Amino acid sequence: MSGGKTSDGHKPGTRVVGAGRREEWTGAVVNPPVWRASTHLYADSKDLASGRPNEDGHFYYGRRGAPTQWALAEALTQLEPGAAGTILYPSGVAAIANVLLAILAPGDVLLVTDNAYEPTRNIALGMLGQYGIEARPFDPLDHAAYEAAFCANTRAVMIECPGSLTMEVCDVPFLAGMAKQKGAISVLDNTWATALGLPALECGCDISVMSLTKHVGGHSDLMMGSASAGGELYAKLRRASQYMGQVVSPDDASLALRGLRTMAVRLERSTSSALEVAKWLSQRPEVAHVLCPMLPGSDGYEIWSRDFTGGCGLFSFVLKGGGPDARARFIDALELFGIGYSWGGFESLVIPFDPGRARNIRQWPPQGWNSGDRLGIRLSIGLEDPADLIADLTRAFEAMGSK
Ligand SMILES: *Cc1c(COP(=O)(O)O)cnc(C)c1O
Repeated sequence: MSGGKTSDGHKPGTRVVGAGRREEWTGAVVNPPVWRASTHLYADSKDLASGRPNEDGHFYYGRRGAPTQWALAEALTQLEPGAAGTILYPSGVAAIANVLLAILAPGDVLLVTDNAYEPTRNIALGMLGQYGIEARPFDPLDHAAYEAAFCANTRAVMIECPGSLTMEVCDVPFLAGMAKQKGAISVLDNTWATALGLPALECGCDISVMSLTKHVGGHSDLMMGSASAGGELYAKLRRASQYMGQVVSPDDASLALRGLRTMAVRLERSTSSALEVAKWLSQRPEVAHVLCPMLPGSDGYEIWSRDFTGGCGLFSFVLKGGGPDARARFIDALELFGIGYSWGGFESLVIPFDPGRARNIRQWPPQGWNSGDRLGIRLSIGLEDPADLIADLTRAFEAMGSK
């Protein structure tokens, strides 16, 4: 969905409140109603025969959406400076898969960051091969190797920042700028920061992808993804999504739009709580490394504070030595952290991770670390009081040690 008035000049907290709100879609109420529809009726035979333009904002048939989905897409477009429009997909993974299929063709080479989200790696390194597209992982922190990885057929680069689980912060403007120089399309998975924390297109990326399941939904009750891009690429993504029948339900779009309205304040709160927890963890004797680029002095902090205007509640840490049983005792003792995938909801979550199998280049544990320090734990800090979260973690460390 494209166009609409932009809300430049306003701060993010203001923009998320007003973005995508058009009177013709909402009428006298604040939020657009849930337009549940497959069939859109025509006035008469002449109206039907004349067809309707294949443009955003025209009723045609349910697969092209209706005002509820249009309002969400337009809101996301207005939050992403430089975007001409946004496509919605039924999940974040669907967004990534559809974007890659839309921009790549047989014979093309895709560079994919080695610390990408595992399903992204699976699509790139697994499925794209069926279509004669070769994916090559690259180390996002090794600029010389990255430049050397380009060949005449490199058509696109898939970037994620911070890296999945291990949280390395790459230089997004540099990676996107190099892609541009080499004639390749850069795609950023911007789920962690959202456009509020990292304006992807302004940083030089061509397409910004998000899992809306995380921060935009924000309440752990919907699955959705999005891709925002400038003019020609937006048209290309739009065509491909129509070919491949991508559509999201108006009920979920309505929930996502509701989530979006409070996203800025939720991100602010979870960022400050995450910083408090991360700082506390960095002083615990059981912790070897805190992987939180928002924490001053941490790996990645310099580039993070240069490029990002905000963070979120997601970060990781690594236990000092120990075995999987000790880690399981720690996780199972937590009462305020649910054990489960996903993140960005109002409730705190925890999962263990061992990224070795999902890396081709970046070894785990990284060079220079004690090889026994390898057991990762990822936290998604929600909206609870951070003092209670820290008390819960304290109890869990005690349970881990008492065997
Ligand atoms: C969760 C996630 C996705 C996938 O989103 P879904 O909506 O769960 O399909 C993509 N990228 C990142 C970085 C994620 O964390």
